Amino acid sequence: MDFLPIFIEIRDRRCLLVGGGEVAARKARLLLAAGARLTVVAPTLGPTLAQLVKEGRVTHEARAFADELVKGNALVFAATDDADVNQQVHACASTLGVPVNVVDQPELCTFVMPSIVDRSPVVVAVSTGGASPVLARLIRAKLETLIPAGYGRLATLAAEFRERVKKRISNPVQRRRFWEAVLDGPVAEQVHAGQDKAARASLEDQLDSVDSGARPQGAVYLVGAGPGDPDLLTFRALRLMQLADVVVYDRLVSSEVLALVRREAELIYAGKERANHSLPQEEINALLLRLAKEGKRVVRLKGGDPFIFGRGGEEIETLLDEGISFEVVPGITAAAGCAAYAGIPLTHRDYAQSVLFVTGHLKDGTVNLNWTALLQPNQTLVFYMGLQGVRQIFEELRRRGLDDSTPAALVQQGTLRSQKVFAGTIATLPDIVERNQVKAPTLIIVGQVVKLHDRLDWFHPS
Ligand code: SAH
Repeated sequence: MDFLPIFIEIRDRRCLLVGGGEVAARKARLLLAAGARLTVVAPTLGPTLAQLVKEGRVTHEARAFADELVKGNALVFAATDDADVNQQVHACASTLGVPVNVVDQPELCTFVMPSIVDRSPVVVAVSTGGASPVLARLIRAKLETLIPAGYGRLATLAAEFRERVKKRISNPVQRRRFWEAVLDGPVAEQVHAGQDKAARASLEDQLDSVDSGARPQGAVYLVGAGPGDPDLLTFRALRLMQLADVVVYDRLVSSEVLALVRREAELIYAGKERANHSLPQEEINALLLRLAKEGKRVVRLKGGDPFIFGRGGEEIETLLDEGISFEVVPGITAAAGCAAYAGIPLTHRDYAQSVLFVTGHLKDGTVNLNWTALLQPNQTLVFYMGLQGVRQIFEELRRRGLDDSTPAALVQQGTLRSQKVFAGTIATLPDIVERNQVKAPTLIIVGQVVKLHDRLDWFHPS
């Protein structure tokens, strides 16, 4: 982050605004809304500021800016069209350590002003760090439509009950659940419908009926995180990631996806690198069980889809035996993600009427596959975990009669910005792969459909 977002109290504190035009007036309104004692320095004032002075809301120093005006202010703003004055305000304020903002000149600012959605006391601030104020405004406009007007009143109601709820429900996890149920349930609906009195009564009822000794019910959500691009998450995956107390994740879950987890959630890496299993499967099963029994909401985040080469089944079986409730959320599996982003349709009217997902994982250095099934005509083969075994697998396929010219591709880090596609044939691909030192994870696709990659390739992140 280039700037640290904070909200600063300026009620009854002195603030200085240099400039008397309409841009300055816009800043003045904001500062007054936050309760500042505002002085404007400018030889003359535009109509808006003149009016504010007339109403007694702003003090006017009718003169040019001078350094001695800066001291003692909480914030200083410069909004003049004179570059020298702006520079002088910046220099003086920075020397004195007073935060300064020069409108539209990020290089002269020690703080920037965000775009604001105001549902006081809820305030959403959006900043692009000065990179693109227009973008910040577009984002703000989206948020305006997303955040119902009632949220301000809802927050006020929550503030009223906050201390009482804290006293009544001492377990922080249970308390958070209580608030989630209030802020996202019938009480909130009543506030949005303008029935504040009824909402207050419902909240009283809900608080009265809380069993403060009860331990919250834990649950495990087995969630597919997709192949890497965070845009490929499902809505439900995202919602659960935002509700989680703990997230247990695999190596395959991209950092971009992890960044979307609720910030306060505990993150536990359960690893799994080829030949370097960070946590054995039994320990992962036991860990999920223990966390759920502690009453936590556990998201078990897995690359791709949890039920495709994900051992998801084993993890929930343990939970089932212990009566822990669970959900499974599908994800976009690597085959679907890589195929789409590499422009290789897995089936095609002319080339392939079926597709087979296979593990290429070597066991004790050998591949043991159902070769008869693999060699069916008009079929696409997708190998997961096939990088180490690619030479052996392709040799075996050729030995058993698959034509040397059969197209094959390896997709490295599919759907991520680092995606690369290496295309060839089952005779040439192993050498191509070796020469290029490809990086995991990789997926291998074999079949006539790979020919389409040349024409349908569309994903070129730069
Ligand atoms: N449950 C996962 C698969 C886990 S097995 C899913 O449905 O996708 C791990 C294998 O998935 C890796 O060895 C690799 O072959 C493949 N894989 C996962 N993500 C990938 C990606 N972004 N690009 C290429 N291959 C990927």
